[in-house]
Amino acid sequence: MPRETTTSVAVIGAGPAGLMLANLLQRRGTPCQVVERLSRERVLARARAGMLEHRTVELLDRIGLGERMHAEGAVHNGCEFRYGETSFFADYSAMYDDTPHVIYPQQEVVADLLAGFEAGGGRVRFETTVMSVEGHLDGTPRIVCSDGSVITAEFLAGADGQYGASRAALPDGSYSDHEMQHEFRWLTLLAQAAPSADWTIYAQQDGGFAGHLLRTDEVTRFHLQVPFGDTVEDWPDERIWHELRTRLGRPGWTLNEGPVISKNMLEMRSRVTEPMRFGRLFLLGDAAHIITPSGGKGMNLAIADAAELDVVLAHHATDPDEGVLDGFTLNRVPDIWKAQEFSHALIHMMHTYPGDTPDAAFRQKVQRSRLWQLQHSRAYARNFAESYIGPSLRWPEPAHPLTGGDRAAPVPAPEPVG
Ligand SMILES: Cc1cc2nc3c(=O)[nH]c(=O)nc-3n(C[C@H](O)[C@H](O)[C@H](O)COP(=O)(O)OP(=O)(O)OC[C@H]3O[C@@H](n4cnc5c(N)ncnc54)[C@H](O)[C@@H]3O)c2cc1C
Repeated sequence: MPRETTTSVAVIGAGPAGLMLANLLQRRGTPCQVVERLSRERVLARARAGMLEHRTVELLDRIGLGERMHAEGAVHNGCEFRYGETSFFADYSAMYDDTPHVIYPQQEVVADLLAGFEAGGGRVRFETTVMSVEGHLDGTPRIVCSDGSVITAEFLAGADGQYGASRAALPDGSYSDHEMQHEFRWLTLLAQAAPSADWTIYAQQDGGFAGHLLRTDEVTRFHLQVPFGDTVEDWPDERIWHELRTRLGRPGWTLNEGPVISKNMLEMRSRVTEPMRFGRLFLLGDAAHIITPSGGKGMNLAIADAAELDVVLAHHATDPDEGVLDGFTLNRVPDIWKAQEFSHALIHMMHTYPGDTPDAAFRQKVQRSRLWQLQHSRAYARNFAESYIGPSLRWPEPAHPLTGGDRAAPVPAPEPVG
């Protein structure tokens, strides 16, 4: 790699946000370089999310990368709530215009995005860490990589997750972090076990929350609410299966068990950074906002950020007004907060607060009311379904770069929240 190169957009990170942006830019004929800290193998092996909102599915289809997702993924329409002796099924797809989710693991989305980018002639520089962002963010910033190379770019896309180099480059006092931390953790695991139902199950018993989430025909993801101080070592497999049986169990229903293939302790933390644009540096995905896995929003938000940045950069190419670039923050923030609200509400609906929590009994009653409304109020259920399914895709097809014509027209911004 030459020591100094220039490009239009330097993309830091080859996760869902970075790779989606790279594909969209490539389709417009905008030069970009993608730099990724990890090896190709590690990027392709990272199993995390698995529930694709409708807009994510539509975007993959529209850029021609949806074929494997439709062949190997599964349509998902509803989820079951189990608490105390009660259980009910929320057919959220039917409640909201028959719009389903697709279950397709994040590592497969990443594999398809990478294959698409490479098929178009793109190349990701794996095993290259961005060490710092230098130069004026308002002018021509550059990134310095671990191999000593320097990339100077018109725009930087910081898609390098919550601990990446782009956040570290934000000038002091130029942003606000809005953060909160729940008082428990999730033990999250993947088990080599067929799903025990064809749908998501959210369960709550005195011991806490348990989730059963689909991934593939042979692999199931489970989540368990655990006390804040617990570590993975506190949870040997025997204990995990005992707790899953207790929290998810129902007479006549069998939990499929199998070897645990990955186990992680997750802090249930949320953060939104505003603004998401700093001169020519944009933050995308987990670099800009983290959200608990409750509700399956993180990967979808990351991909929606990439779609919006593509639109904003295309608009800016025809209208170089700096205000156009502010559209990125203005258009993304309301959607991000809506997802945070949903994830937060879902957590509060299904978790157990320890008896010594001052208002535990009150919270429990509010939970029960929310569940009751979800089961019995059509308006409440439709609102739940709308949030769960996610908004429509805001990504107009670009004109083909070789045939000329207008670039994508800007999408009118929704009213900013707050
Ligand atoms: C256990 C778990 C379950 C989840 N479940 C769901 C779910 O069901 N649904 C959902 O939508 N979301 C879920 N999420 C969240 C989702 O996985 C993330 O929100 C998503 O990965 C964010 O994508 P991203 O591209 O922003 O960041 P990442 O996927 O984190 O990608 C960032 C990339 O940047 C690279 N990088 C970092 N620093 C540097 C550097 N200095 N130089 C170069 N490269 C760098 C990293 O190696 C990484 O490849 C889950 C997350 C976890 C952990």
